[in-house]
Amino acid sequence: MDLQHWLGRAAHAIQDWADTFGPYRPHPSLQVDDDRFADAFEELTGRLKDNYPFFHPHYAGQMLKPPHPAAVVGYLTTMLVNPNNHALDGGPATATMEREAVARLAAMFGYDTHLGHLTTSGTIANLEALFVARELHPGRGIAYSADAHYTHGRMCHVLGMKGHPVPTDDRGRMDLDALEDILRTGEVGTVVLTTGTTGLGAVDPVHQVLPIAEHHGVRVHVDAAYGGFFTLLADADGPEGLPSEPWRAIARADSVVVDPHKHGLQPYGCGAVLFRDPEVGRFYLHDSPYTYFTSAELHLGEISLECSRAGASAAALWLTFQLLPPTPDGLGQVLAAGRRAALRWSQLIEDSAYLELYQQPELDIVSYFPTVEPATLTAIDAASARILTDGMNGPDPIFLSTLKAGREAFTARHPKVTADADGARILRSVLMKPESEHHVEDLHDRVERLALGPALKAV
Ligand SMILES: *Cc1c(COP(=O)(O)O)cnc(C)c1O
Repeated sequence: MDLQHWLGRAAHAIQDWADTFGPYRPHPSLQVDDDRFADAFEELTGRLKDNYPFFHPHYAGQMLKPPHPAAVVGYLTTMLVNPNNHALDGGPATATMEREAVARLAAMFGYDTHLGHLTTSGTIANLEALFVARELHPGRGIAYSADAHYTHGRMCHVLGMKGHPVPTDDRGRMDLDALEDILRTGEVGTVVLTTGTTGLGAVDPVHQVLPIAEHHGVRVHVDAAYGGFFTLLADADGPEGLPSEPWRAIARADSVVVDPHKHGLQPYGCGAVLFRDPEVGRFYLHDSPYTYFTSAELHLGEISLECSRAGASAAALWLTFQLLPPTPDGLGQVLAAGRRAALRWSQLIEDSAYLELYQQPELDIVSYFPTVEPATLTAIDAASARILTDGMNGPDPIFLSTLKAGREAFTARHPKVTADADGARILRSVLMKPESEHHVEDLHDRVERLALGPALKAV
């Protein structure tokens, strides 16, 4: 699709609609002449060059990429109207689109009933889930893995709840014996499981935790902010297929969060929270705490902690789902390509004399470090940092990211490395663009050369 063409169509479509309301005079206070605008616009586009090329396959760093053109057109078209999804009278059309898009997310996770809405971010979506958790288990805390997103600890603080970090195993997943020890104290009301940790993409075993949680009378919330759309690869044919148990088990969790602004091709400002039991809507209402809720009766402002939210976000997601629905054949194909890229690159790293794999990727995040002699954490840290910087500053740059691996986590995976420091930075590449699939050999080659850098200069 031609973005310029459709952006032009967008302006026309909204103008045609506006023209049906009769003429009026724009106020002079808002008028800006084209020459002045041109100068300011020049400055804007100039300043925007101070960015990393998130769209390009040579950007293989953080969880960043531009939205799909369909989402851009959906967002900008709707923004010309600027509906507010805090309530139905803020914009009935986008409120309905939000419900439809959220229903598709619920279907993706296999929820047979749900109450849910979009949020500004995964952080706010998780805050809402933890808020409901607190209302249902007052006085009891939250357990989450030590590798869970840092905002869980922060939100526990905001909500006045105690957070209980649970150690992880040597693949970054929650340690179930440690979880049971914590649950036995009776201090925990809700367990947060992460299906796709932000650092390494580790998937907590939701299916194994559900019976444990039930035994202890504890809720289960799944933070799938980053990983949620990988549900579409559960049991897929081909190398990209994922073991389905943790993904299918999300259907039995009490709540789940997913960020369409990560793997759902959306611009920032689009998270989502879903509850399996629509009755939890009662905790959001101030004036009528005893109303019985079904998902059909509620309107969005009554079930969200936030007030104003962009109707444009809902429209962008809705439009994207019309074209690339959250199904294995739709959006699933986009994630499959990144997953195959991660598997292929990991294989190349395993076969390399200059790089080592930190751990096998469970999703599309590749973690690795340069081979150094002698192998100490200090040397690995320095070499990783050097590769990151050299990569960005070369004539034909590539962009990676680093992740701080703690001493214990590192030596659990690589016992031969000398632990002479608290930890070490390693390299991390999130291959979330499907185009990565065609650039893995090139990326690998470049990172190998960077790893060899000082040696090459010496020759
Ligand atoms: C990104 C992320 C979050 C936070 O979401 P934001 O949209 O950045 O606020 C929470 N949990 C996980 C697992 C994430 O990857």
